[in-house]
Amino acid sequence: MIEGSCLCGAVRFTIDGGMSGIVTCHCSMCRKAAGGAAGAFFVAQRDEVTWQGEEYLTVYRSSPELERSFCSRCGAAMTGANLIAPDDTIILTANALDGDAPARVVAHEHAASKASWNDGNEKAPHFDGPFPGWETLRP
Ligand SMILES: [Zn+2]
Ligand SMILES: [Zn+2]
Repeated sequence: MIEGSCLCGAVRFTIDGGMSGIVTCHCSMCRKAAGGAAGAFFVAQRDEVTWQGEEYLTVYRSSPELERSFCSRCGAAMTGANLIAPDDTIILTANALDGDAPARVVAHEHAASKASWNDGNEKAPHFDGPFPGWETLRP
């Protein structure tokens, strides 16, 4: 069982089925919707997804033919850009996944739209806890 939830826990999904890969999208819309350097998405069979707290989902039409949704309490993105006229699949956010997932990132799309502020981020040091230098970052 694949499980996901928003930040506040009001919205949850469970998938009684599989997933085959995660794609990150670096386009400006996905970056803004995700609140990060990229959105991360996967495809599920619509009839294998069970929602809890679906009434907390707010749908936003980000393009004439596409809509996304997020939790109206905490703002967490829950679905990616899905066709308004739904087919048998649904794009869900990998950011919402709880625990491990039976798939890994297989592609990065719209790489040409990557945020310039993220250039070279792999060279920045990693900390297992909080960054100890926040005080040094005052402008
Ligand atoms: Zn929430
Ligand atoms: Zn995108």
